[in-house]
Amino acid sequence: MANCGVKFRAYPTAEQVHILSQWIGCARVIYNCKVSEDNQNYNIFKSTGDKISINQAYSHFKNDEREWLNQCPSQVLRNASSIWYTAKQRFFKGIANNPRKKKKGIKDTVLLTSELFKFKDEISDDGVVLKNLIIGTKKNSLGVLKFKAHREFGNPQQIVIGKKNKKWYVSFCYEVEDTGKSEQELLDEYSNLDETSLNTLTVGIDRGIVIPFQTSNQSCYDFDDKLKNQIKLKQKKLKKYQRKLARQKKGSTSRNKTKNRIAKIHSKISNIRHDFCHKVSHSIANSEAKIFAVEDLKLKNMTKSPKPKQDENGNYLPNMRKAKAGLNRELLSKGLAKTIEFLEYKAKKYGKLVIKVSPHYSSQECANCGHTHADNRKTQDNFLCLLCGNHDNADINAAKIIAKRGVQFLLSKPKAKTRTRLGISRSKAGRGICKTRLEQSNPLIPMTSEARSL
Ligand SMILES: [Zn+2]
Repeated sequence: MANCGVKFRAYPTAEQVHILSQWIGCARVIYNCKVSEDNQNYNIFKSTGDKISINQAYSHFKNDEREWLNQCPSQVLRNASSIWYTAKQRFFKGIANNPRKKKKGIKDTVLLTSELFKFKDEISDDGVVLKNLIIGTKKNSLGVLKFKAHREFGNPQQIVIGKKNKKWYVSFCYEVEDTGKSEQELLDEYSNLDETSLNTLTVGIDRGIVIPFQTSNQSCYDFDDKLKNQIKLKQKKLKKYQRKLARQKKGSTSRNKTKNRIAKIHSKISNIRHDFCHKVSHSIANSEAKIFAVEDLKLKNMTKSPKPKQDENGNYLPNMRKAKAGLNRELLSKGLAKTIEFLEYKAKKYGKLVIKVSPHYSSQECANCGHTHADNRKTQDNFLCLLCGNHDNADINAAKIIAKRGVQFLLSKPKAKTRTRLGISRSKAGRGICKTRLEQSNPLIPMTSEARSL
């Protein structure tokens, strides 16, 4: 079984908005109370050494001070407490930070479990089955919540209703029959192929700032001029409102208005980018290639701000922080990581494979003879090999190198005897790929199997 996620736009009535906002608020209060309680318990433990066990109890927060919590369905409060508990467990396992208090207006969501919602089929006049979403319990009924289902979906165990920039959404996961092969099966299947077949089936994807996505089969993907212009205009508007915001009095109505405008522009820009990532990943996944090789870039590390520089006397020296911030902005604005994330789950759906290879010197290595030198790359888009004279577009050359490393990686998987007969020694096959990976029994970097369509 595999999971499939969907997010639909919802259109609650004014009354529903009122009640849903209350539920969101109550859930946040319980979550924050749990965080405070946990902090207090930790302080007690630090001073006295008394360990207080962690649990999901929340009813003691329903005191006279917070009598209004009684108006909210208890399941909503229980879910909030359980979300905190899960977050805390994740912290103990070392996969997340310690849960912190939630703020109003940031990720305003409420989790509804199966007691709180129901999908009811309704057959319209023209015979189409419509799914009505009924929210609430007998005591706290919200009635039917209108939402736009832009695609088919299955029945979920739980749903999340959320609000962002005054727009409401309902999102959930449901299980689907997993008919495709697993990453391991795909990996085994493709690593059994010979070099010639692998060369025709593999496409390398080079990611960069000037051209966001360049494939080794000469296709390149970039925002078109219309989109670039749209983003530029929105960024200009954004700057205008940000300056305005700085002048306005804190807490004033006009300031809040400007704040909303800024949030709206931000979400529009992010929608344009999100859409671009989906279109590019869809196009690449639907191409004839079956194996996609990408560089294993650590974008999170690459976009860190530089450390402050100090001289012997402790005076601060220029550290190019502003220039780096500009570069980071450019790197993050192209959706370089998100597109690959989307490509991973889309490729899996079509029985294709995404592999990550070492990015080292991919822009300096010649795709023809393998000569690696910084001087090979004359300019941003010009590549001229100093050894064999191979001349190409620098991004295409890099994409070819990435494809080559992908093929070498698949060839370096077991079956050493067949490969020696083909004339490829093990050391050559593994060139350009992290050594540690080759030494592992299952070195591939199978992609995360989560189906992310959100
Ligand atoms: Zn060369």
